[in-house]
Amino acid sequence: MIVFDLECRASGHRFEGWFGSSEDFADQQRRGLLTCPQCGDADVVKALMAPNVARKGNQLAVTKPEPAQAVASGPGLSPEALKAMRALAKMQAEALKDSRWVGDKFAEQSRAMHYGEREAESIHGQATLQEAKALVEEGIEVAPLPFPVAPPDKAN
Ligand SMILES: [Zn+2]
Repeated sequence: MIVFDLECRASGHRFEGWFGSSEDFADQQRRGLLTCPQCGDADVVKALMAPNVARKGNQLAVTKPEPAQAVASGPGLSPEALKAMRALAKMQAEALKDSRWVGDKFAEQSRAMHYGEREAESIHGQATLQEAKALVEEGIEVAPLPFPVAPPDKAN
């Protein structure tokens, strides 16, 4: 699955669309199957990813580093599998964009937030299988990440 930010050309309403692939999106767009949930306009295009970009006037080319390039492209992976992995990596990157790395303090911090000992925020980090199990048993929502994340202090 792949998620696109979409907008209707008429009024610029933003919404998200989920597709099996970018071809799937193109196909639905071509056949006019995509409609704006707010005004029903069928002229739907992919929205620019960067917020607050001026619609008119200067054309601003926004290029984002492609995190998916970090995904291994070794032999044995079909193009389809690679594409799925890239989409997954992209979703993970999006999900972690506003999330704070807490390293091995993940279990401790998740628990503190769950019991209201500290302000809730989006965090990600490392936990042992045992810690993760304990969190789940306490009813604390944790989600495994499909790809390992390099700790920021070890990234360079
Ligand atoms: Zn609209």
